[in-house]
Amino acid sequence: MTKGSDRLPAAGEPTRCRQCRRVLPNQRTGRPREFCSQACRQWHWVGKQRAAELQLSEHELIVTKETLDQLHDELYVLACAVNDAERDLLAGHGKESARELREILEWLLEAARPLRDRELPSG
Ligand SMILES: [Zn+2]
Repeated sequence: MTKGSDRLPAAGEPTRCRQCRRVLPNQRTGRPREFCSQACRQWHWVGKQRAAELQLSEHELIVTKETLDQLHDELYVLACAVNDAERDLLAGHGKESARELREILEWLLEAARPLRDRELPSG
């Protein structure tokens, strides 16, 4: 067994899909799951094959500029929404109505959803 991505999670650390990093449900019996889905298992395998072809180490990967730009854009939108939410909460001095809190939360969720719903890059 090698170090790095094959290491077992520390106590209290959730187990994550080795492909998309989603947290996997707790599992008490059987062989621990490594992937959240069959699709992730396949993408992981494909990635390993391509890395071998290109002689990349397990710590290197090739991402298209478009994919990386899109991820940065989505992270930027989320960061702005976090800033907005912090500013609104600070300005509200804990006296926000349930409706105002809901608006803040929906704003944040709207910014975070694209990251949750991301499709895995197809190569
Ligand atoms: Zn996954």
